[in-house]
Amino acid sequence: MKREVIYSVRGPRLLPEMTSAEIGEELKHTDIIIFPVASTEVHGSHLPLAADTIQGTEAVRRIVAKFASEGIRVVGGLPIPLGVSLREMDFPGTISLMPDTMMAVIRDVCNSVIKHGFRRIVLVMSHDGNLGTLYSAAEEISKQPGVRVLLINWLPFLRSKYTEVLKSKSGGHAGEGETARVLAAIPELVHLDRAQVGPEEGGSGPQLETDMSIHFGGGTFDPARGLRDLTPIGSFGDPRGATAETGDKCYGIIEDWACAVIRRHFAL
Ligand SMILES: [Zn+2]
Repeated sequence: MKREVIYSVRGPRLLPEMTSAEIGEELKHTDIIIFPVASTEVHGSHLPLAADTIQGTEAVRRIVAKFASEGIRVVGGLPIPLGVSLREMDFPGTISLMPDTMMAVIRDVCNSVIKHGFRRIVLVMSHDGNLGTLYSAAEEISKQPGVRVLLINWLPFLRSKYTEVLKSKSGGHAGEGETARVLAAIPELVHLDRAQVGPEEGGSGPQLETDMSIHFGGGTFDPARGLRDLTPIGSFGDPRGATAETGDKCYGIIEDWACAVIRRHFAL
């Protein structure tokens, strides 16, 4: 029986794509492992539920490749495809962990790699709803002797560059930015022909200074309303102008910033 090829994957390989012996060999050269931590949740009518996982995985592959080109060896970890998506649960297909389940997953994943010899763990946040849990997990796991957990959130820096990169002002959930990044990673899973225009994230009312969500670098968090109340189509903004080229530019910004942050914190 001939089966359809859904999409192809470009390297470098991450932990689940390597053998145990290959990880053992890497451990002779590095104690750094970088995990994309994402979600499975609605991303409008045009992106797959794995949109955050695809972006986090692609970002980590590019971070590992950039370090390799500089002669710095790090291991790309297991993409964690589930997160806290309680806000998105009104939409079919969304699968959410409760925050305490998420905490337990992150704790067990980190303790597994710590047992094998990794000591510096980077958690790359590619789904904003995981911020609170990842913050607590990083703090708790870092208390083990000799272990460091660095949590990084690329969103505030990337959003500060969006006016230079995007055609629209749609940097929000499933908007032009996210659509472009999924296009640059796995174009076969993007349905631009089904893209719809949603409201702008944050509404159109008068804005107070730094009155935006904490995960975007602001100072507020107001989780009471479900995503369907904010946007009936499960996305914000106008994704129709998204291109893979824009997505590549976004990954370039993420890569440069993330590598600089990791280099500085771990004195590489
Ligand atoms: Zn997303």
